Amino acid sequence: MAQSAPLILRLVASSITAVNRAGKIIRDVMSQGDLGIVEKGKNDLQTEADRSAQRCIVTSLSRQFPSVTIIGEEGPSNCEVPSDWVVTDSDPQILQLTCPKELLDVKDHEVVIWVDPLDGTSEYTQGLLDHVTVLVGIAVGDRAVGGVIHQPYYNYKSASGDDVGRTLWGITGIGTGGFKPQLPPEGKRIITTTRSHSNTVVQAALDALQPDEILRVGGAGHKVMLLMEGKAHAYVFASAGCKRWDTCAPEAILVALGGCLTDMHGNKYCYNKDTHHQNMGGVLATAKGEDHGWYLRNLPDVVRQTLI
Ligand code: AMP
Ligand code: MG
Ligand code: MG
Repeated sequence: MAQSAPLILRLVASSITAVNRAGKIIRDVMSQGDLGIVEKGKNDLQTEADRSAQRCIVTSLSRQFPSVTIIGEEGPSNCEVPSDWVVTDSDPQILQLTCPKELLDVKDHEVVIWVDPLDGTSEYTQGLLDHVTVLVGIAVGDRAVGGVIHQPYYNYKSASGDDVGRTLWGITGIGTGGFKPQLPPEGKRIITTTRSHSNTVVQAALDALQPDEILRVGGAGHKVMLLMEGKAHAYVFASAGCKRWDTCAPEAILVALGGCLTDMHGNKYCYNKDTHHQNMGGVLATAKGEDHGWYLRNLPDVVRQTLI
């Protein structure tokens, strides 16, 4: 049965078990107490959790899909991967879904998997654990069509300590699962944005859009989750700091739900294997039911002039 399911379903089904395993690694690194922080660049950290979670996900997926291109934030590693980090089973419910016609015949060489093993590293090191997510985005050709977001610390403050972590998924033309979609409140404009990578242009965009409230939180995955769960109307980040692995999974799930993600000019990002990694045009994502064009029209000129 599993082998006969369409490739896109098998990719999402295997990504779900891989991100769940990676989430446990992220919690284990934190509870062992030595984060092994490395500074990759200005305001850009990597920890042992980022490195280990990436090895878990990339090894698990490449073992099952050796001909699919996988691009991970942390680059390749030639360290041995512990055998219990390699998971090759798949979520059985995903394999049962009915695949839309357009995705039935997708071939390995058309697929790119974009992996952000730990989104919100800065927040992870500061103990803002609900901001942390694990992102696996699946692109076919140029488009983000499948996505998995794992939140390793969801519910971690609950008294029992059970049921920590959750995994959201979405596939174009099928829908979403793992959470309860909600629309943001009418008659208000709540905008979410970065808390650790702001600058004057990022702020100018927010000022021009005159939000009633600004939610400054970490991680692209976490911010798009706020849109899908009715906590914010838009995610506005007028900076080139995000990369394709930050947006591929969130975009696929958001679009499957009826939302939209583009750069500040209204262009969709391409996710093929030869594309730039950096989202040079910034990120504008809007919840289902929001007028994406309104946000684009109301951005100040400085945003369009600064972001190419
Ligand atoms: P944030 O909203 O600041 O949490 O950023 C979302 C994602 O984009 C995270 O993976 C950040 O690491 C990345 N990011 C955003 N801005 C920058 C930047 N200036 N330098 C490095 N990474 C960035
Ligand atoms: Mg990230
Ligand atoms: Mg990351």
